[in-house]
Amino acid sequence: MNAQINLRALGSSFLSTHHRCFAAALGGPFTHIATVPSTRGRRGQHPLYTILAGGVRLPHVLATANDRYPADDRQFHPDRFAVDSHSLDGVPRVLVIDDTWTTGARVQSLAFALKAAGAVKVGAVVLGRHVNPADGVRYEHYRLFNERLRKAPEFDESRCSMGDAGGEGLAGGGLVVED
Ligand SMILES: [Zn+2]
Repeated sequence: MNAQINLRALGSSFLSTHHRCFAAALGGPFTHIATVPSTRGRRGQHPLYTILAGGVRLPHVLATANDRYPADDRQFHPDRFAVDSHSLDGVPRVLVIDDTWTTGARVQSLAFALKAAGAVKVGAVVLGRHVNPADGVRYEHYRLFNERLRKAPEFDESRCSMGDAGGEGLAGGGLVVED
């Protein structure tokens, strides 16, 4: 529960601090929100959407995963996700949120599907992820990473990953997905 509250606070704070940066890059504010569908058989609403829905009052674009591709597939596939084009109206600028970024292929694949369904611009924010203490070696990796984050004096969520400061450092992460 605390993790959800923390994520909601982080998401709301990041989006309110940087929504103008996105609007400048996208030619206007976000009009819709989409979450990357789970490829691990999770059903129903994406937890991140549930967590953020109260703070981000945008219509949710529904997308479904093509089960031809396994969860650990790290390649871009134009047909990896399908988007219901009826949920995109007007001049859609879509905020994509996800909790995982490895190669970016999942977000890029969803951005492709959104554009094919009528989105004019797509911006992505990778918010955070839950780490399972039972996850052995990987948990140890995250524990060390978290320790580094806590100690890092340069952490500053007001730093923009899209502005002149570039993508360096431990700032919040947002990006505009280009064509
Ligand atoms: Zn910014």
